[in-house]
Amino acid sequence: MLRIMKAIVYAGLLRLSVEDTPVPEPKPGQVLVRLKSAGICGSDVNYIKGEFQYSKIPIIPGHEGAGVVEIAEDSSELREGDRVVINYVSSCGECEYCKIRRDNLCNNVELIGFDRDGTWAEYIIVSEKSLMKLPDNISFEEGAISGCALVTPFHAIKISRLSPGESVAIIGLGGVGINAVPIARMMGASKIIGVDIHSPKLEVARKYGADLVVNPLETDPVEVVKEETGGVDVSFEFVGSINTILQALKITKKGGRVVLVGLTRSSLTLPLPDLLFNEKTIITSIDHTREDLKELLGLMERRALNFQNSISGVVDIAQVPKIIDEMVSGRYSGLRTVIRF
Ligand SMILES: [Zn+2]
Ligand SMILES: [Zn+2]
Repeated sequence: MLRIMKAIVYAGLLRLSVEDTPVPEPKPGQVLVRLKSAGICGSDVNYIKGEFQYSKIPIIPGHEGAGVVEIAEDSSELREGDRVVINYVSSCGECEYCKIRRDNLCNNVELIGFDRDGTWAEYIIVSEKSLMKLPDNISFEEGAISGCALVTPFHAIKISRLSPGESVAIIGLGGVGINAVPIARMMGASKIIGVDIHSPKLEVARKYGADLVVNPLETDPVEVVKEETGGVDVSFEFVGSINTILQALKITKKGGRVVLVGLTRSSLTLPLPDLLFNEKTIITSIDHTREDLKELLGLMERRALNFQNSISGVVDIAQVPKIIDEMVSGRYSGLRTVIRF
């Protein structure tokens, strides 16, 4: 019997609609998941407005999602009703990068929600290795955002090799960057400085334990950081703009690390003397590894980390085109909106 589900379908530049489409049928090795929640991320907007290209059109977007297993094979370790998180970085498990557990760099990587149908639908089929069990004490909403908004800064902070006692600046406190604050706190950062042009986001950063917050529309973050710390050990850039990348370089002290996370298509002329004479290191961070997501869910399960202020809105799937419209036009003032199915 053909079953019908609601899904958001992207049909080309800025064209999104809510449609009734057939529930996909799992092939051998695949699992059918009934989604309970899915996140709406800034990078979805980058693709919808054509800054980056989806691998296929039409496509169901969405790379953050959590739900329950509806159909799994008998040989599967998963059972009907199991709570799961979608790991959108679908890696091959066999290439040189997968073998050294850097599966975010997999030579054959496929990104769910960009290369194939994603989570903005009532159902999704994924291979079993793209699923991770969601502990019972984590909500589906937090489970959904764990797959990108939470694990992206987790990966970035891990590869920065942040040591306890080091000072940190986080530039860009949106849906992803904001979560770097509690993670850096947990990892023992001595001083955390948050930078964003939206005051409500600075307030959330304070709630999460930022020691100092700076609004560049009011104060020059470079001056404030120099005054307060003489330069931070590690800066994280979550915006993806040339201005803020240069800002990150300036507020980092001699011998410090600058971690670039925000996506951009722009090129940048590097201020090489500042790098060369001061041994500053630029690190880039993309996506996350399977191990990162597993570790993060473990920390959330043990309540070593909580992200209770990270979801600013819950909507029905029918409202997604409206939210995207707000995000594209810059009228969106939320932190992270999630769909509840
Ligand atoms: Zn994302
Ligand atoms: Zn691989």
